[in-house]
Amino acid sequence: MRNIPTATVSRLVTYLRILADLEEAEVKRTSSDLLAEEAQVSAFQVRKDLAYFGRFGTRGAGYSVPTLRRELRRILGLTRPWNVAIMGMGRLGQALADYPNFDQYDFILKASFDADPAKVGRHIGGVDVYPVDELDARVSEWAIDIAFLAVPAPAAQDAAERLVAAGIRGILNFAPTVITVPEGVFVEPVDFVAGLKRLAYYLQGSGEKATLGA
Ligand code: NAD
Repeated sequence: MRNIPTATVSRLVTYLRILADLEEAEVKRTSSDLLAEEAQVSAFQVRKDLAYFGRFGTRGAGYSVPTLRRELRRILGLTRPWNVAIMGMGRLGQALADYPNFDQYDFILKASFDADPAKVGRHIGGVDVYPVDELDARVSEWAIDIAFLAVPAPAAQDAAERLVAAGIRGILNFAPTVITVPEGVFVEPVDFVAGLKRLAYYLQGSGEKATLGA
């Protein structure tokens, strides 16, 4: 497979969401201009992103919404459900387990794991909490592909290694630390505190501008 820039993959996810909204609104055709406007990128960028995967539109006539949506789902690997587990059922893990809409996107929460015996055996947000010792057995039993990693940062690398050893190939890492995984395993960091810090930077910047302009 060609090396596709991560930013392109992120934008494809955005285009797919826009196409889903268009289809919901029964819009049959769209254009790179319209997708660009909704995604807040240039039309050139939209065409370039799509061109990595082939030709989807007709010059002048744009794109068929259902066809492009189907193609993007295929490209993104979203034509099948993905089984998910949560590692670490603390405050964040429990909040994730309580989120009711993963299924809507074909991400099926199958199980959760925790090192704390007081949490094991409980049923939280529709999933059972298993001991980490049962990771291998449960991951293969339910063909779990992806894990949400929601353990404290100092435990994250070790927990990730256990997930990988059990056969997990995708980790959504909520712990504020970089984890190292072997080739063929993918980590997506999710760090909303980093987002807050970026906001603080921008707000401080605009505050400064206002002061200077006053
Ligand atoms: P928490 O202390 O409430 O829960 C952590 C859970 O992990 C506990 O239940 C603990 O028993 C379990 N655990 C510890 N070591 C483990 C291991 N080796 N294997 C399995 N389970 C283990 O913490 P929290 O508030 O839920 O936060 C969880 C993680 O998410 C932390 O790393 C925190 O910094 C991070 N966090 C991230 C964001 C974000 O935006 N990404 C937001 C909040 C919290």
